[in-house]
Amino acid sequence: MKNTLVILIICFTTSIIFGQITDPVATEVWEPVPRVVTSPSDKFVPSDAVVLFDGKDLSAWKSAKSDEKAKWKIKDDAMTVKPGTGDIETKQSFGSIQLHIEWRSPKKVKSEGQGRGNSGVFFQKRYEVQVLDNYENKTYPNGQAGSIYKQYMPLVNACRAPGEWQSYDIIFMAPEFNADGIRVRSGYLTVFHNGVLIQNHAEVQGTTEYIGLPKNIAHGDAPIMLQDHGNLVSYRNIWVREL
Ligand code: MG
Repeated sequence: MKNTLVILIICFTTSIIFGQITDPVATEVWEPVPRVVTSPSDKFVPSDAVVLFDGKDLSAWKSAKSDEKAKWKIKDDAMTVKPGTGDIETKQSFGSIQLHIEWRSPKKVKSEGQGRGNSGVFFQKRYEVQVLDNYENKTYPNGQAGSIYKQYMPLVNACRAPGEWQSYDIIFMAPEFNADGIRVRSGYLTVFHNGVLIQNHAEVQGTTEYIGLPKNIAHGDAPIMLQDHGNLVSYRNIWVREL
């Protein structure tokens, strides 16, 4: 009995002193098992994605300012802003998501700066990742394509030429507010533009305001909104995965 106790104490002390795990099995985690998500081709839509636009109709969207239908135009598997009809938003609300969206600014270049191929992807109707034709087009960098509007400029300019399709792959982690309406966790955005990392886990400061400072008024899940900035920007192949 005494010997057993001594051995146990020695073993215990040794494990603390050396802290070594010698068995590879000891660090294997077998549960839970990640579910299978298939993505069979380059033009893939993951099997667990919510498809928001597949080129056929705007049934997942509505006007952002009323309960009216979205009035943007559909042609060649793409939707295009119909200037003056206003922003559109998803009927479904979302929290944290992975978003894939493809966009194209008009081939025929008109205007400059913020007036050239301007639109935007708003998360929870509040946080804009800028869509803008910044191919050889100068503007304030914290408002250029891929910026988190007036908060973070993109790390690099990955814009393709006007008229070419481009992609955003975005991870949006929604902010959290407590019952008193105080923000207890910031939102975060990670953005790939045409496969290039341009926002790396950027801490969202609040709403992306055109004028003034970011605001942090409590909210829950909310739609994704696409901006009508008066330019003929097109979108296609839009899907999200809820996180
Ligand atoms: Mg915009």
